[in-house]
Amino acid sequence: MATLEIRDLHVSVADGSDGTKEILRGVDLTVKAGETHAIMGPNGSGKSTLAYAVAGHPKYEVTSGAVTLDGEDVLAMSVDERARAGLFLAMQYPVEVPGVSVSNFLRTAVTAVRGEAPKLREFAKEMKKAMDDLSIDPAFAQRSLNEGFSGGEKKRHEILQMEMLQPRIAVLDETDSGLDVDALKVVSEGVNRFSGADTGVLLITHYTRILRYVKPDFVHVFSGGRVVAQGGPELADVLENEGYEKYAKAGVS
Ligand code: ADP
Ligand code: MG
Ligand code: MG
Repeated sequence: MATLEIRDLHVSVADGSDGTKEILRGVDLTVKAGETHAIMGPNGSGKSTLAYAVAGHPKYEVTSGAVTLDGEDVLAMSVDERARAGLFLAMQYPVEVPGVSVSNFLRTAVTAVRGEAPKLREFAKEMKKAMDDLSIDPAFAQRSLNEGFSGGEKKRHEILQMEMLQPRIAVLDETDSGLDVDALKVVSEGVNRFSGADTGVLLITHYTRILRYVKPDFVHVFSGGRVVAQGGPELADVLENEGYEKYAKAGVS
């Protein structure tokens, strides 16, 4: 049973002049297999920073705290090691790679995570099935990675990666922007197919919209770089009705 534990995580970024600015100020969160967690919060509260820090993005410096997966130190792992350990972090490969097709990229990623290259024909079958499930046009497989992808295509590709890599814990930063209702449904269905007894999901979102399709077991409200409130799925409804105002005040330091 996979367990991702985030303990008193503090993260800083360069502030653009000479110093650093602390963004995350002691985040505590545990995601276990079989659970879907939503992190919600106002813009600028540090939600994406949490995802980047767990992904190992070099711009985000962990100044203290711990992230472990089944007790293993995630922060000591390279980005590839994190993937092999069973963590899926959607923003790991957000870059445009002209000349590398979606299909080649996926095969490379699957090879890295499984430790051996899948047979071409089986891989093609697997990819076709996953793409069908996500209503992705077959021609998409030959597109250059992320080049000219629309918001919806990026999200579909993200979920396609997740389905192919079969991680144990997935961290998805749903910026939600650029997702039309159809794309939102496809992404949500992908998340719902993925979530099960052996897998855990941490879904980061600003809007409650996606939570009409994905039902979280736990909702955490983020403000000022930490979790300021927690509850069950009913908390998402409260946020939908009341917004983040009262939490925004709580988060100001
Ligand atoms: P959210 O995803 O909740 O909207 P972010 O994590 O993107 O919030 O940003 C939190 C704060 O950290 C914001 O004030 C943002 O400007 C700042 N920040 C995030 N990433 C960087 C970065 N790479 N460089 C400088 N400031 C950053
Ligand atoms: Mg602290
Ligand atoms: Mg964000």
